Amino acid sequence: MMAVAIHPSVDNGIKPAADGFAGGTLVCHCAQNPVKVSIGSQVLHNHACGCTKCWKPDGALFSVVGVVPRDKVDVTDNAGRLKIVDDKATIQRHACSGCGVHMYGRIENDKHAFYGLDFIHTELSPQTGWAPPGFAAFVSSIIESGADPANMGAVRGRLKDVGLEPYDCLNPPLMDALATQAAKLSGVLKS
Ligand SMILES: [Zn+2]
Ligand SMILES: [Zn+2]
Repeated sequence: MMAVAIHPSVDNGIKPAADGFAGGTLVCHCAQNPVKVSIGSQVLHNHACGCTKCWKPDGALFSVVGVVPRDKVDVTDNAGRLKIVDDKATIQRHACSGCGVHMYGRIENDKHAFYGLDFIHTELSPQTGWAPPGFAAFVSSIIESGADPANMGAVRGRLKDVGLEPYDCLNPPLMDALATQAAKLSGVLKS
């Protein structure tokens, strides 16, 4: 059976985080004058994501995406090339208009549970030591990007083999965070 290609940073074994790692620089794929984004923090909640919105490298079934505090994200080079992919989306993904790579995603709704966190792809950074993905989210959604529904058993099996528990939404702690925020906003839960 052909190996399932999850994502380049996963397929050849997941590398552990480095102790004390404190960030790096994301670089887009443009050969000339790339966009650069300085990240002053280790990444949190890093995970494989199968949704149709996150940027994926060529040939990968999944994106790998995590979050950092938005005040730790600084566009240092060629900011003028960045364009928001969909300004109606909850996460506004700022992509390079030259190569299409998403450099960071930002939530502008200050009532959202994840407000204050920007979404980044650590594979864009030459530095090593980032926290690796810890689970796989929105696994069933890869079908919406063209993956064969008949192959989903093999995909979930491969994810488990590499240590990424597959979920068809987010993992329980993040789903709980979203529901807690919704309950606070509706008044069901007194904070
Ligand atoms: Zn680019
Ligand atoms: Zn996603």
